[in-house]
Amino acid sequence: MENKRIYVDHSATTPLKQEVLDAMMPYFTQNFGNASTVYAEGREAKKAVSLAREQVAKAIGADVKEIYFTGSGTEADNWAIRGVAKANKAKGNHIITSAVEHHAVLHTCQDLEKEGFEVTYLPVDEFGMVSAEDVKNAIKDTTILVTIMMANNEIGTIMPIEEIGKVTKAAGVILHTDAVQAIGMIDIDVNKMNIDLLSMTGHKFYGPKGSGALFVRQGVKVAPFITGGAQERNKRAGTENVASIVGLGKAIELATTDIEGHTAKLRAMRDRLIDRILEEIPYTRLNGHRTQRLASNSNISFEFIEGESLLLMLDMQGISASSGSACTSGSLDPSHVLLAIGLKHEIAHGSLRVSFGDSNTMEDADRIVDSLKTIVARLREMSPLYENVKNR
Ligand SMILES: *Cc1c(COP(=O)(O)O)cnc(C)c1O
Repeated sequence: MENKRIYVDHSATTPLKQEVLDAMMPYFTQNFGNASTVYAEGREAKKAVSLAREQVAKAIGADVKEIYFTGSGTEADNWAIRGVAKANKAKGNHIITSAVEHHAVLHTCQDLEKEGFEVTYLPVDEFGMVSAEDVKNAIKDTTILVTIMMANNEIGTIMPIEEIGKVTKAAGVILHTDAVQAIGMIDIDVNKMNIDLLSMTGHKFYGPKGSGALFVRQGVKVAPFITGGAQERNKRAGTENVASIVGLGKAIELATTDIEGHTAKLRAMRDRLIDRILEEIPYTRLNGHRTQRLASNSNISFEFIEGESLLLMLDMQGISASSGSACTSGSLDPSHVLLAIGLKHEIAHGSLRVSFGDSNTMEDADRIVDSLKTIVARLREMSPLYENVKNR
């Protein structure tokens, strides 16, 4: 019997839901109109974009006038940070972020440093958590923006955004959050949380790749990032990607309809995997917070092992997961997130991220652990470091 493959890299991307594809299909063919035109085909497209805007706004407690569609989560992050920096330059040049942000935020901040902005990269605790107190202490007269992610993509740690929102609101500083990993996992209310800008991307919640959105609170000054036509109320030029926008809208509606039920199922698989690994495989440690973590995410370090070898052997057994290290992208540097929580290089290198999704089952969790037990034992047999430990 052929075993079905197990995909557990939902933090990297998710498959498109059939219902989402069904909603998108007409906008590739019969309803192909340009949403910025006045005749029937254009009006049809515009109506679809408006519905998607309502779906996105409703999902995060925002107003439709505060939602702008982008081409990705990376674009939303770039726009939020560069747009606020540019529009508020007269007020100050200081930006606060954290050491564990996604590269879409980190590399953007580093780029702005070259343009004369000053950036504070806040450290995190051993669980990858940013403290609201640290944010408060880092704010100064010249601070124009705080950008902290809602949940970390590698170790799943959920940040205290609501507390940070109280701090930024009291200080009159703009708060941006990269909520790419949080949509469908955390109940988001931008007003209750005092969030001024929020980034998302469709492909992390069963929508299409290349679809994103940025929430910008009314009254918050953001310069356009892409200039050209008058689309998106003069803020994001370029002919609307109607099918993609429709897909994002449908996907976010589905993802936020029953967050509690959806996450309960993921959490059960995650906890089963974590508990079994820590109990049945020696020299392992959980990275990230035990409870303040995404329901889908587990990140585990296996001592004396290369994450890369682990991934390849899992792949051969039909399991698609991710290594905590950036080796896969051609760089041998260990993950900046794992280093920020204090892991030594060699331990960071032996890390594995398993992120569950809608189609996974408890049997998948068990099959992954069973495979890991054999693979880890085999790899350790070949490790001279492990040989020393055994003989101690
Ligand atoms: C995936 C991801 C992004 C990038 O989104 P894209 O749509 O792939 O550009 C940004 N931030 C976080 C936290 C992510 O996980």
